[in-house]
Amino acid sequence: MHMLTYIFATRNKHKIQEFQSLLPPDIRLIGLDEVGFTGELMEPFDTLEDNSRIKALTVYEALQQDCLAEDSGLEVNALQGAPGAHSARFAGDQATDEQNIMLLLSKLQGITDRSAQFRTVITLIWKGKLYQVEGRCAGQIIEPPRGNNGFGYDPIFIPEGSRYTFAEMSLAEKNQYSHRARAVKAWIALLQQLTYSKQ
Ligand code: IMP
Repeated sequence: MHMLTYIFATRNKHKIQEFQSLLPPDIRLIGLDEVGFTGELMEPFDTLEDNSRIKALTVYEALQQDCLAEDSGLEVNALQGAPGAHSARFAGDQATDEQNIMLLLSKLQGITDRSAQFRTVITLIWKGKLYQVEGRCAGQIIEPPRGNNGFGYDPIFIPEGSRYTFAEMSLAEKNQYSHRARAVKAWIALLQQLTYSKQ
């Protein structure tokens, strides 16, 4: 089997594993620690697109090698897309998942529109050219939180087509809906297109 290896612009081993579990066996991701990248990866912007792009470009410029990066977040319609690119640090730099959830629910007090979406933006640098694909998962914010699996806002998010929160699902069940799984699918389709057209 011919293996394709891609540098993934993250140091988060859990994230590498999660993405790897969504890929066919002939695609392998290697993280920044494995390639000896010691620089800092910033997420200074207000959009997932910009943060995903800057992470990929930082690694590309340092290593002069093609790579991919991602950025994900929860966009709540009644909050004009917040917390979005600030999802991880919504309640402050050191905020826990619980604190982020509580802040979000407090901002939704008395608001009936509970619609939201998770979104993942993947940036691929391929032969020096930059491409972006995304995956979305629409759903509803519920209260109180339910379930113990997953991370982040999983206990308060029910994806369209389910009665369960992401935190009440196994990872395999979550992958049937998740923004991340859909973004990875779009990335694989892009890779096939690029390899096929030999750009
Ligand atoms: P990242 O870009 O994948 O690191 O995601 C940034 C933040 O968005 C996370 O720290 C979570 O707060 C939130 N988030 C992203 N994906 C998910 C998910 O699948 N479930 C719950 N929260 C998520």
